[in-house]
Amino acid sequence: MKEILFLEPVFTHNIWGGTKLRDEFGYPVEGDDIGECWGIAAHEHGDCSVKEGTYKGKTLSSLWTSNPELFGNYKSKRFPLLTKIIDAKADLSIQVHPDDAYASSHENGSYGKMECWYILDCKEDATIVIGHNAKTKEELADMIHGGRWKDFIREIPIRKGDFLQIDPGTVHAIKGGTLILESQQNSDITYRVYDYDRLSNGKPRELHIEQSIDVITVPAKEIGDSVRHTDDVPKNCMYELIACQYYRIFQMDVDGAMEFEQKYPFLLASVVEGSGTIDGHPVKKGDHMILCNGYGKATIEGQLKIIASTPV
Ligand code: ZN
Repeated sequence: MKEILFLEPVFTHNIWGGTKLRDEFGYPVEGDDIGECWGIAAHEHGDCSVKEGTYKGKTLSSLWTSNPELFGNYKSKRFPLLTKIIDAKADLSIQVHPDDAYASSHENGSYGKMECWYILDCKEDATIVIGHNAKTKEELADMIHGGRWKDFIREIPIRKGDFLQIDPGTVHAIKGGTLILESQQNSDITYRVYDYDRLSNGKPRELHIEQSIDVITVPAKEIGDSVRHTDDVPKNCMYELIACQYYRIFQMDVDGAMEFEQKYPFLLASVVEGSGTIDGHPVKKGDHMILCNGYGKATIEGQLKIIASTPV
C-alpha cells in the first residue's frame, strides 16, 4: 500500500513554552507559551488527524482501530508511539517516568514511558539534566525530602544533534533555550520531582515525591551511556540511532537523493530541517507523516533531515 498519512499536529500551551514552533516551524498557532507540537500522536490528550488523501479528517486513533492493515496489524491496543517537538523557553520541571509494570498497577493500566531526545537546537554551552548523584535509595530520599537539589541533580553539557535515550526511572529535564524532538512510548505519565519552586497561577504545581522515589533508578546510568553525538552519521541512508525494546529510531540526512525500503509494520517520519520531496510529494521542516505497511521502496530528494521511528 503506497499510502503516506500526512498528519495535522496538535499543540499544547505550557508555562515554560515559547514561540519557536510558530516562528521557526511555521505552525499556525497563537500565543507565546507554545510548549509542544504533538506531530504524530493518538492519545486522549492529543489525537492528530490526517490532512489529505483517502483518510482525510480521520484521527490517528480511529484509523488505528478501523484500518489495522495500514499498520501491519501491529499487536497493540493503542497506537504505540508518540512524536513531539518541544520548545523549552524556560527550564522544565525535573521529572521521571514509570515503567510499564509500575504504570499499569498505579496508573489505571497506562503504559510506562521510555523516551528519547534529538537535540534540534540549544544555546551555546547548554546543559541538560539527566540522572542524579544519589548512591542508594536512602540517600535519594534524603536528598529529595531535604530539598538538596544541587547535590541531587546531574547536569551534563549538550550540543545540537545530540541524541539521548531516557529509560523509565531516569531523572531528566530540559533547560531553557533547548528545542528537541522527542520519540516516546504513547504515555503521558510523568512524576514531577522538583519545579524550581515556581508558581503557576499563583500556586506551586503539584509534585509527585513518593511516586518519584519509588520509580527512580539508583544509582543512575553512567553519563557516557546516555548521550550520543551524531556528527559522524553518514548522509543519504537510514541510520539507526537506537534500538530498544519499544522502538527503533533512525536519522536520515538527505543531501541530493536517497532511497530506502519501508519494510517495517509502519514508519513514523518527521522533517526537522530543510525541504524536499518523498516520492514526488513536497515535504518541509515541520511535516509529520506515517509511511504505512507494505510501502516498500521510497525515494527522498532535497536537502533535509528526517527523524524516523518504528515500534519494535
Ligand atoms: Zn520525559
